[in-house]
Amino acid sequence: TNKRHSEETLLSQDEKYVWHSMRPFSPNSTIVASKANGSWVTDANGSRYLDAMAGLWCVNVGYGRKELAEAAYHQLLEMPYFPLTQTHEPAIKLAEKLNEWLNDEYVIFFSNSGSEANETSFKIARQYHEQKGEHHRFKIISRYRGYHGNTTGSLAATGQAQRKYKYEPLAHGFIHVSPPDSYRDDIHVSDPSELSSVKEVDRVMTWELSETIAAMIMEPIISGGGILVPHDGYMQAVKDVCEKHGALLIVDEVICGFGRLGKPFGFMNYGVKPDIITMAKGITSGYLPLAATAVRKEIYEAFKGEGEYDYLRHINTFGGSPAACALALKNLELMEKENLFDRSRDLGDRVLNKLTTLLQNHPYVGDVRGKGLLIGIELVKDQASKEPLEPSLVNQVVVHCKDKGVLIGKNGATVAGFNNVLALSPPLNIEVEDLDFVVHTLVDSLNNLVK
Ligand code: PMP
Repeated sequence: TNKRHSEETLLSQDEKYVWHSMRPFSPNSTIVASKANGSWVTDANGSRYLDAMAGLWCVNVGYGRKELAEAAYHQLLEMPYFPLTQTHEPAIKLAEKLNEWLNDEYVIFFSNSGSEANETSFKIARQYHEQKGEHHRFKIISRYRGYHGNTTGSLAATGQAQRKYKYEPLAHGFIHVSPPDSYRDDIHVSDPSELSSVKEVDRVMTWELSETIAAMIMEPIISGGGILVPHDGYMQAVKDVCEKHGALLIVDEVICGFGRLGKPFGFMNYGVKPDIITMAKGITSGYLPLAATAVRKEIYEAFKGEGEYDYLRHINTFGGSPAACALALKNLELMEKENLFDRSRDLGDRVLNKLTTLLQNHPYVGDVRGKGLLIGIELVKDQASKEPLEPSLVNQVVVHCKDKGVLIGKNGATVAGFNNVLALSPPLNIEVEDLDFVVHTLVDSLNNLVK
């Protein structure tokens, strides 16, 4: 009872003092997280939950990794802060390590969040064209349903109207195209340049005037907007269209990177070489804030002019802080040592196979899809209409799972206001038995809907 009292006290203080994002305050479903280890989180009452979302898609190496805490601790004692207007060894070592994964082809600009990494990429893309004497290339193309951040530029790039309309006008020059939707659209065409979503990119860039397009930004798989797994050839086909119009391709790896899709970076599944790569979340497995914008060296070269304004006029106080970089380096080494990329791929296949089999006759399950440990289950009113299932029923599944001790996610933006895609994105080192527990709890919760 003592413990229960402490949780109740904390919740009432929370209601009084803390403004949370994206949800109304709800005492019955809010967890006061107090401890975490492996894939498990313990609340202030001592109840344990299996975290099948890895926090907010970021705790890729799991909770409670002493090596990571120690790397940060030692760096904090050695030198807690110094700005990257100068330089320091932890940032240099991390940039070098990222380049081991990136074939030594990128320079790295550090910041603190995915939103900032994307803002940085937009500025770099625009200024790059300026540097080359192309003065009207400012437009950024992105996809409906994609999420790219909460700042005025990154939110302008976000293709989810319901997150935006109370804050408009946002930054100018952002234009959306349709995402590839392999559940509803023409995934079966054999030539990816014939996909309607690819032809639309070409059409929009043509109509907008190629000479006005700076870049296109995309995730390898749209994560927050419904886990949209594209045709295998989609990404390269989009890259080809960008090249045709002289636009850069920015790949947002904030969720898809760091093993989530079974490779160091998600784009590596599709054989594409991005011009700019943005990353955050999994770079530290969520242990400390850190983000990065990786830019192809040829692009960086254009910023080395002699003029007073030829360099990147963009500065960041906390970005690439020594402790965050030291921790991130250790995190990347852990991922390699524990072979978490292959593990993510193999466990992802296991979950997909199980869910596909167990749910094939479920009336509300329209589609089960994913790659690596990024899995989505699209819920519909019926298989034929593919209309999104009502939010109240989707919520019931999420709450049922939580009551049984499993935290899952939901998103979608299929139609504004409809988040009818259940999401799984557990730590990449989740135990196999724990993963099976997630699957069975989820299937049980779904079956409960039609009892
Ligand atoms: N890009 C993607 C794909 C994301 O999922 C997110 C955050 N969920 C962001 C960017 C923004 O990252 P942050 O919340 O760290 O600003």
